[in-house]
Amino acid sequence: MNKNCLDLNQSILERWAQAAALLGVITPSDIKVKIVRSKDSSYKFGVILNEKRFNRPSDINGNYCKLCRDVEKANEDVRLNLSNGTNLGDMIVIINKYPIFPGFSLAVPSPERVSYSTSDLSNLKKDLERLLPFSDETGLELCHNQPGLGATIPLHDHWHLTNFKKGFEITNESYGFNAAEVCPTLNDPTVSYMPDFPFAHLIFNKKDTDKLLNFLQKLGEKYGNKYINGKVPHDLSGGRHGFLVSIGRDYFDKSWSSSEFSGNIIAGNENEFNRFSYEDCVNGLKRYFLTKKEIELETLL
Ligand SMILES: [Zn+2]
Repeated sequence: MNKNCLDLNQSILERWAQAAALLGVITPSDIKVKIVRSKDSSYKFGVILNEKRFNRPSDINGNYCKLCRDVEKANEDVRLNLSNGTNLGDMIVIINKYPIFPGFSLAVPSPERVSYSTSDLSNLKKDLERLLPFSDETGLELCHNQPGLGATIPLHDHWHLTNFKKGFEITNESYGFNAAEVCPTLNDPTVSYMPDFPFAHLIFNKKDTDKLLNFLQKLGEKYGNKYINGKVPHDLSGGRHGFLVSIGRDYFDKSWSSSEFSGNIIAGNENEFNRFSYEDCVNGLKRYFLTKKEIELETLL
């Protein structure tokens, strides 16, 4: 495997490492990753051992906002502001203090605002316009978890800037969404899907944000009334093929997120890591995400 093609832009890695050192963030040095597969499917999951991330404190009750505090620190010390020098509107990029791999960061709006939703997509459009060039420049992929589907700080919107491909250097083989076979959909050949992945999803070209927005609008109109607040919980996972959209089966206080949906399953301890099988990954996803049999997405294109 060509390692160079997986690396992030050197300057962002250096700035990330400096910020991590200043904040005392201990980056995992012996990250374990294994691939799990099934004889019935070409789709492969990566299981990643990361105890620190798994056991991180959550801000689900909103007693105080860790993101506001971290942004404040980055405004006081420019070395903690990874987007310094780039105009991202009201967004600032800071390191993720519980990284899965070195480089994992967060793009956070300041002042605080709630997540976009299928009822109001205006901030999603603005955020993508600002963050996609930053993603292109740095090599970090954009992922978004919504309240009810993996957002652990639901009152303060944020994007995950990820580097999941780093795991391929450990397994010497790619896995998950980035490795999956994809086909164009019949209704729109610019939108694709993974034939061997049993969960409801579509993959949108990153450059065609209008198409993604149009789809999410229709998704909200058609299925919003099935959810408690009229909004369809969904996650976005950026990867090699575009933005992977997943659909939550309900609102969850704590759930799997865009990481797991894109084939990166985080194990919280060594025992769990060792025992995790392909079936465990599928069963875990089934708890939180709708399957292809349960919701038909292509008709919304
Ligand atoms: Zn906040």
